[in-house]
Amino acid sequence: MMQREIRADEMVAAAARVARIAENARVGVVTGAGVSVASGVPDFRGNTGLWVRFDPMEYATISAFREDPAKVWRMFRAVDDVLRGVAPNAAHDAIAALERLGLSPGVVTQNIDGLHERAGSQRVVSVHGHTGELHCIYCGASYARGSVAPEADGVPYCGCGRALKPAVTLFGEELPAMAMTTARRMTEDVDVLLVVGTSGMVAPANTLPDMVQARGGRVVEVNLSPHPVAATGKEDVFLRARAEHFMPALVQALSGESA
Ligand SMILES: [Zn+2]
Repeated sequence: MMQREIRADEMVAAAARVARIAENARVGVVTGAGVSVASGVPDFRGNTGLWVRFDPMEYATISAFREDPAKVWRMFRAVDDVLRGVAPNAAHDAIAALERLGLSPGVVTQNIDGLHERAGSQRVVSVHGHTGELHCIYCGASYARGSVAPEADGVPYCGCGRALKPAVTLFGEELPAMAMTTARRMTEDVDVLLVVGTSGMVAPANTLPDMVQARGGRVVEVNLSPHPVAATGKEDVFLRARAEHFMPALVQALSGESA
């Protein structure tokens, strides 16, 4: 299964191959951390500075938040600092173009960085939540991110007096059920599912390829490492390529225009 990375001069041929599969098809897109690496967003699983300073298993858990919200907010602020400095890359632009061209119903993402929205994608289902909203895990209230100022301890508090957290799913916390229902509905009638840059697709997003294949649809994985869809044999086509190289080539092949 290990194959070498597709070279730049082979990208047009690789895109043409997928375009033949996706021609006249409804194309669903699922993304993970790999699409944002070129934007400078560190992969949770990668060994980058941010996650060396804030071990996700120590900081990004719901029990850590319940015990010491100020500590977890130090991590959230570090994440905010990173996200403030990044911009969408060619992969985000290409995925937005697929939707704009009427080829795709939208994108399901495991990322919390908001880069699909910033690239112009209209329908974005964030199955792990997003940083633009604050949520109270105690009373269920929600607030726009900028509408509640943090107290001296760096934590914004709910009207009920408890600590608020960004509406991002932490380890040990249930995924937003609504988002997953929307993701399934969006994927219901796609003929081809592009799984792009998911270095660690986790439940329940990893049920989407099965769902598409069970209806006779095809799954195309674009990733730098053959993992985890390819590892489980769920993909019909595996392309070892960087999302920011392959996705613009695919849009070009499908539409004749560049993203
Ligand atoms: Zn509350």
